[in-house]
Amino acid sequence: MVKLTETPDYKPIFGTNGIRGIPNKDLTVEFAQEIGKAIGTYYGKVSVAMGRDTRDTGNMIFNAVASGLMSSGSGIIDLGILPTPALQYYCKSKGIFGVVITASHNPPRFNGIKCIANDGTELRREDEEKIERIYYEKAFATVPWEDVGTLRGDPTSLELYLDGILSHVNVGKIREKQFRVLVDSGNGASYFTTPALLRKLGCSVVSLNTYPDGKFTSRTSEPRPENLKDLISLMKGGNFNLGVAHDGDADRAVFIDEKGNFIDGDKTLCLVVRSVIKPGTKVVTPISSSDAIDEICHDGKADLIRTRVGAPLVSRTMIDNRAMIGGEENGGIIYGEHQYCRDGAMTVALILNLMAVGGKRISEMISSLPQFFIHKLSVERKRDWKSLEPHILSYAETKSNDRSDGLKIYLSDGWVLMRPSGTEPIIRVYGQSRDEKRARELALEYEALILGLQEGPSAE
Ligand code: MG
Repeated sequence: MVKLTETPDYKPIFGTNGIRGIPNKDLTVEFAQEIGKAIGTYYGKVSVAMGRDTRDTGNMIFNAVASGLMSSGSGIIDLGILPTPALQYYCKSKGIFGVVITASHNPPRFNGIKCIANDGTELRREDEEKIERIYYEKAFATVPWEDVGTLRGDPTSLELYLDGILSHVNVGKIREKQFRVLVDSGNGASYFTTPALLRKLGCSVVSLNTYPDGKFTSRTSEPRPENLKDLISLMKGGNFNLGVAHDGDADRAVFIDEKGNFIDGDKTLCLVVRSVIKPGTKVVTPISSSDAIDEICHDGKADLIRTRVGAPLVSRTMIDNRAMIGGEENGGIIYGEHQYCRDGAMTVALILNLMAVGGKRISEMISSLPQFFIHKLSVERKRDWKSLEPHILSYAETKSNDRSDGLKIYLSDGWVLMRPSGTEPIIRVYGQSRDEKRARELALEYEALILGLQEGPSAE
């Protein structure tokens, strides 16, 4: 997590996915207002789209940031509660900058501030640095009273977003199938958008946790199998074609098959990639997704580009390489024909399109993919990551390693990736193998190693 304490020394404020913190602790109203002033100074006297997820602290942070922006002459278009990709699509469509108040899948005590460029993607790091410098130097452009920005709404933003998604799929074919879909929004920002999209696609929709609850009391926001027990149990015997779950700001979507099996986000990514690639297509994914995507790209004669972990980086690499498809193993899929950011609702439409056009059940499509498994764990980070790396390397009987982002070690029957999270004080551990049991064993083995090193004096 980024420490927001003011300091005369330059210190990054934006993390890998915007600013995150605990409201009234490190993410204070005073800070939010000043960062709003800095963002407004950087954006200039322009219209800025703003939105938020369902968190209870969203209004407080929203109003502070909006006040800062308006004091520097920005006019706010308040889009209210909506998924982050819906706000990004609005920014792309109108060619305007944006700010979204969200902490994505983080626990409800967190909130965050994320800046969107006028092409709809997350702001580049160098532009975030310019905002940070304005903030530290207090070089705010405070305008005279007659130029202070105003605030208005735009009720067309939802239709704009849904129409954009529908333009990329075969609506008639999907409607013919009359799919039964169970949706779990986890009380997040997709609570009205995904059910609305599914109804437009002629689906029979049953909703779970599709009401706003800023404390996420129904389930934890991260769409992992252990947090989706209600959805999974309702899918078993519910006679549904597909189950869908989103994270808090709905840039991610994960799926449950018609039998009630959780589908790993890595497999969804592979499925979508396989369906869209042609020889020469460029595909972008971080080092955390499985080797299945290498096989799929190899078979389809597509070019695969691996990046460090982080959705904004995948988006930017896609733009720089004119790649039309990319994404992460966590259910974040970026479909460049639509927009260059993760989009949970777009992913839902793409999967239904595949089911409708191909005429196969989701479980059949998944079982036809190269079989690789990823087991993910999180360990609390108590020590500096860099001090642990040499000890892990000396422990591992590794053939080769990749230190571009954390530490990825290649073993005879799989790989292990260990990296400190950019948004939380944890170390993520990924074990990957063709064998599900082995993937789990690898993750557990290195989790235990990291725990031991953090307890022992050898890590110092
Ligand atoms: Mg998210």
